[in-house]
Amino acid sequence: MSGRYLTDLASVCRGAGLDVVEVNGWQTRARSSGGYGTGRPTTVMVHHTASGASADGWGDVNYICYGSPDKPLSNLYLDRQGSVWVCAAGCTNTNGKGSDTWGGGVPNDSMNSYAIGIEAGNNGVGEKWPWEQQISYLALCRALCDHYGISYNNVRGHFEWAPTRKVDPAGPSAWAAGSASWNMNHFRSDVKDYLPPEPTPSPPTQEDDDMVPFLIRNNETGGVALVYGEGKVTGLDGDSLPAFIQRYGNFIDMPPVTYNDFAAKGG
Ligand SMILES: [Zn+2]
Repeated sequence: MSGRYLTDLASVCRGAGLDVVEVNGWQTRARSSGGYGTGRPTTVMVHHTASGASADGWGDVNYICYGSPDKPLSNLYLDRQGSVWVCAAGCTNTNGKGSDTWGGGVPNDSMNSYAIGIEAGNNGVGEKWPWEQQISYLALCRALCDHYGISYNNVRGHFEWAPTRKVDPAGPSAWAAGSASWNMNHFRSDVKDYLPPEPTPSPPTQEDDDMVPFLIRNNETGGVALVYGEGKVTGLDGDSLPAFIQRYGNFIDMPPVTYNDFAAKGG
């Protein structure tokens, strides 16, 4: 167990708003070289499994963690519903021989000890990537880069590392048509531009009656705002209630009151 094990992988994925499945023993799972060296991981490697839909989920994960002679085959697995399975916290055998042509600082044939490897369920010969899986791939890469201090430029497809051996990731998606390999410049650009969902604000604490939050609605304009504390108002004043709920969630279960009620409460 030498080197760095990414034992916060599951929480990083959850922090990105992703559904997470933790595969038993992932915190100590690694290839024979163990954990990551100092200053690593430096790269996020993007793959597809080249396995069919019938293997989605546990079938693929079973092979990645237990069945393959080169296990573990990846740190993370992304299924077709967009859920992330956390497979291994140490280095994995995801990438094989290849070379870094983009200035990422990875020596030849050494990517396995520099990268977080992600395998995503797709047959690689034209299977359409579900939208949820595409969005999750962006969210996942973005969260890994931001948390581990990895440059977006070091989010790389397997075929960029090993162009004579590999085509993955490939297939119909926002980044390719037919069975072509993805346009990774576009993928990286989308990772960079991806907007993580805004965290749902906690309801204000209820220290006394004055701290109970409530909604106000302007009867003339329909505008809604959240009032809490000493009459502080936040939210989308002037916007619609559906827009307000879409943005802030449905955590406020108090019925809306009117400006008249608000005035009567004395601010
Ligand atoms: Zn691959």
